[in-house]
Amino acid sequence: MMRFGMHLSMSGRLADAPDRGRAIGCRALQIFSGNPRGWTKAPQVPERVEEFKEAVKAAKIDPVVVHATYLINLAAPDDPIFKLSVDTFLDELRRSAALGARFYVVHSGSHKGQGEEKGRQRIIEALRRADREVPDRPEILLENTAGTANSLGTTFEDLAKLLDGAAIPRNGVCFDTCHALAAGYEIRTAEGAARTLDDFDRIVSLQRLRCLHVNDSKGGLGSHLDRHEHIGKGEIGEAGFKAFFADKRVWNLPAILETPLDQPDDDRRNLWKAVELAVESGATEAELLEVMPTGPLDPIKAAAASKRGKVSSKRKPPPKPKAGRAKTKRRSAPRHAQGGRKVRRRLRRKK
Ligand SMILES: [Zn+2]
Ligand SMILES: [Zn+2]
Repeated sequence: MMRFGMHLSMSGRLADAPDRGRAIGCRALQIFSGNPRGWTKAPQVPERVEEFKEAVKAAKIDPVVVHATYLINLAAPDDPIFKLSVDTFLDELRRSAALGARFYVVHSGSHKGQGEEKGRQRIIEALRRADREVPDRPEILLENTAGTANSLGTTFEDLAKLLDGAAIPRNGVCFDTCHALAAGYEIRTAEGAARTLDDFDRIVSLQRLRCLHVNDSKGGLGSHLDRHEHIGKGEIGEAGFKAFFADKRVWNLPAILETPLDQPDDDRRNLWKAVELAVESGATEAELLEVMPTGPLDPIKAAAASKRGKVSSKRKPPPKPKAGRAKTKRRSAPRHAQGGRKVRRRLRRKK
């Protein structure tokens, strides 16, 4: 059964993320291991880490996934940047292990025009160092990317080259639905999803598929646009997700949403929408809708929800979706790029 969860910000106490996740019904959780915008992080405080792990346990969240900060570029051709990236990568793996994370998701990076082969060798070197220097670590998952210029890890062939090159069995792939569609992989129909997963299995192996990122996409098939959209409102759409979730090969995977947060209640709404579509596809238990949310509702969210006359503390499924677009204006970047847009723009300019 698919275990749905969200990428939640690490503002406030470390334990706030699992508490908020619990309030909206997360069964899995993704976080950054510290400030995602800088190279330096405040040292972990053991008491706070313990609180976090207690909160995770209380919320019955499993797995915890850590997403690498965007500054890390394991394919960087520039020696100082590569060194900084690898040092940060190793540090984040240690921090993730301390937090009890099962997976650590990292993008393959950008070769910045210095050639794919050179970039690939650097990533492989970084993965091998992690294996040697941080033996006690979460599983490292390379995330498929949308295919913006010079980025690696967009195609299944490339992911396979990286994983085979490093030859570390514990490493795997995190499959992002938005990035896959943007990269040109059709997943929105039964045939498309079947073909894409067949290809993945033949080229990479489904054994290595450990986690999903469930995001709708602002860009269409093959657009190479990395812009996440609310579940059901983008190019994948409700029918597209239902077709993808109906493929049994994704049923045993954790599924993390990284959808935009434009309105205070968006996380809950997107999560419930995804679960609803998965239930309709048979990918997860119908009872899941009945028990969401599992914990006390976040007071801010509850207030915002009741103001709009939405379900608040009642243990009921979300209201049936009406056809058409959401009434609210949507701005903003992918959830996990929040606050990081400037940095990313700067990084893009550097390419
Ligand atoms: Zn990512
Ligand atoms: Zn993602």
